[in-house]
Amino acid sequence: MTAKVAINGYGTIGKRVADAVAAQDDMEIVGIVKTRPSFEAKIAQDKGYALYAAAKENIEDFKKSKMEVSGTLDELLDEAEIVVDATPGDTGEEYKKLYEKHGVKAIWQGGEEHELTGFSFNSEANYSEALGRDFTRVVSCNTTGLVRVLYALDTAFGVKKARVTLMRRAADPNDIKTGPINALIPDPIKLPSHHGPDVNSILPHIDITTMAVKTSTTLMHLHALNIELKKKCTEDDIVNVLKERPRIRLVSSKDRIKSTAEAMEFAKDLGRPRGDMWENVVWKDSIAINKGELYFFQAIHQEADVVPENVDAIRAMLEIEKDGASSIKKTNKALGI
Ligand code: NAD
Repeated sequence: MTAKVAINGYGTIGKRVADAVAAQDDMEIVGIVKTRPSFEAKIAQDKGYALYAAAKENIEDFKKSKMEVSGTLDELLDEAEIVVDATPGDTGEEYKKLYEKHGVKAIWQGGEEHELTGFSFNSEANYSEALGRDFTRVVSCNTTGLVRVLYALDTAFGVKKARVTLMRRAADPNDIKTGPINALIPDPIKLPSHHGPDVNSILPHIDITTMAVKTSTTLMHLHALNIELKKKCTEDDIVNVLKERPRIRLVSSKDRIKSTAEAMEFAKDLGRPRGDMWENVVWKDSIAINKGELYFFQAIHQEADVVPENVDAIRAMLEIEKDGASSIKKTNKALGI
């Protein structure tokens, strides 16, 4: 028996999670939900996903585009055990009521607040706490990237204090509505940014403060990290810890990966679907211990890093796999990480 998964909100994150779920042998997509016809909806049908309209009033639009729909979200929820909600942030409360009515478990994304589910998820840091839960939030791309490295370093050496500057991509590559194209925007100007408290929704004991700048790029986020560790260690010790983690990829400028552009090209050359980089890209040669503190750079592919975490969250919530490390291994193997 494979777990029956619905995807509500088939955009940047939703379409990637759908393909990642379909690649697993213990879960299947029973349907995806779109509000209106589009090239994405057409391709989803070509891939064999059953297409559902978000509401009855959307069905006419699909008919006009000569697209068959299998029904509405309401009907899909009768078929599904769990729904991955990748709608834009702030629709959470409304949809939560609907999922509750149908007795379907649900996973939201980082655009929703922690309070919606009361539980925020990261595969390595708190898989066991997600076992059997009805509602979970997979934290944002930036928070996922930060939790991965902080959890690894905290487990090995103890994190005393983390100070991080995030240089955020302003828009996704398919986004024609947002900018800036000619500016760097301190965002938010009032510090600190929300990313630190978001990390604390998973790792509450870590002293972390963050600030963020919106940059004129679509490719990746770049994090500059400064961390005080409890135990004394060398740069080699840090490399040895990070290289063992399942979703951290160490790269080197010596291999001509000196920027987010080359990191994305690397993912494409690896033959990844949509050129996705699911792992944190940590520059090995940026790792420095200076005056007793650790410094390094990492790049985060915002469209991709939360995707394997959604797959693991499904396994935990449906208790298909009790052990987090086994789920991560399974997800990674199916995706080719
Ligand atoms: P998106 O705009 O690319 O996709 C959202 C999809 O939901 C679209 O297809 C849209 O048509 C559909 N939709 C809109 N309203 C809907 C409704 N009422 N019912 C059903 N479907 C509806 O957005 P995204 O970037 O995939 O973001 C989805 C979630 O993932 C957000 O919470 C976001 O914060 C989070 N997230 C985004 C990124 C990123 O970089 N794009 C990274 C991590 C997490």
